[in-house]
Amino acid sequence: MKIFVNEPIHPAAMELLRSRAEVVSEWEDVPAVSAALVRTTKIGPDFLNRAKQLRVIGKHGIGYDNIDIASAKERGIAVVYTPLANVNSVAELAVSLFLALARKLVSAQKLIRSGECTRIAPPELTGTELSGKTVALIGLGHIAQQVAQILGVGFHCHLVGYDPYVSREKMATLDIEKADCLKEALRAGDLINISVPLNDSTRGMIGSAELGVCRPTAILVNTARGGIVDEVALYEALSRNELAAAASDVFAVEPPGVDMPLMSLPNFLPTPHIGANTEEALYRMGITVVEDLFAVLNG
Ligand code: NAD
Repeated sequence: MKIFVNEPIHPAAMELLRSRAEVVSEWEDVPAVSAALVRTTKIGPDFLNRAKQLRVIGKHGIGYDNIDIASAKERGIAVVYTPLANVNSVAELAVSLFLALARKLVSAQKLIRSGECTRIAPPELTGTELSGKTVALIGLGHIAQQVAQILGVGFHCHLVGYDPYVSREKMATLDIEKADCLKEALRAGDLINISVPLNDSTRGMIGSAELGVCRPTAILVNTARGGIVDEVALYEALSRNELAAAASDVFAVEPPGVDMPLMSLPNFLPTPHIGANTEEALYRMGITVVEDLFAVLNG
C-alpha cells in the first residue's frame, strides 16, 4: 500500500506509517496512492483527478481549508483530521502573544540588546497586566474555550463570547457572557482573541469597520487563519493607534513578505504559523492522523 506524504511529520508518526505502508512523496507516485497525509499541501481537483486509487485524505491538524472537501466527497474519498491534537498548544501561544504584547517584550529585548537601557525602564516600556481584563472571544470552539479557561481561571479575566453557533446557555456554563453581535464583543474587549475557521462567513470578518469599534487600548491576537483579519485595515488601525497592539501567527500569504507594511510596526508581533509547533502537538497530530488513516483503509 502506498501513502503520499510530502511534508515533515513527527518521527514517531513516520515510523508508524512506514511500519504499515510504503511512503511516497513525488507527483508521479500520486496515481498509485491509497491515502494522502497532508499538512499544508493543497488537495484540489489536480491532485484528486490524478489520484484514481485514493480512498482517504488525512489532515495533520484542524484547519482543513487546503483540502477541497466537496470534490473529495463527490468521489467518495474520506477525509480525517485531528481536531483536538493541537488545541492546547495554540491556546498557549495565544496567551503568550497577549502577554508578550501587554509587557512589550519585543521592544524590551531590543532595548537591552542595544546597550542603551537605563536602570529605570523608559515610559514606552510601561506595560499592562492581563489580570482582570475583559477578553472578547471571537469564535468559541476548542481553542477559544482553552484560552478562556487559561485567562478566566489563571488571570481572573471577564469573558465575552461571539459565536452564532454556541448557545447562551453553553457559554454561561463556561462563565462566558454571550455577545449578540460581533461589534458588541469587539467593543467590550481589552484582549481580542480570534479563533474561527477560514470560510466564506469569516473571510475578511475583521475589517476597518470592526477594528474601528475596538478600544484604542485593545490587544488583538489572531492564531486562526490569514484572511480573517484584513491586513491592510489592521495596519491602518495600528499605525493610527486605534488599536494598541496586535499579533498574528497566520497571514493571507504564507510565508508573508518581509516588506509587508505590518512588519514595520513596533506594536505588531508576527510569528510564522507556530501555533501547533510543539513537541506534544506534533506527536499527537502525527500519531492520530496515521491511526485514523489506517482505520479507514482497514475498513
Ligand atoms: P473549532 O472548530 O473547535 O472552533 C471554531 C469555532 O468558530 C466554532 O465554535 C464555530 O462555531 C465558530 N465560528 C464559525 N464561524 C463563525 C463566525 N462566522 N463567527 C463566529 N464564530 C464562528 O476550531 P478550533 O480548534 O477552535 O480552531 C479554530 C481555527 O484555528 C481552525 O479552524 C484553524 O484554522 C486555526 N488553527 C490554527 C493553528 C495555528 O497553527 N496557528 C492551529 C490549529 C488551528
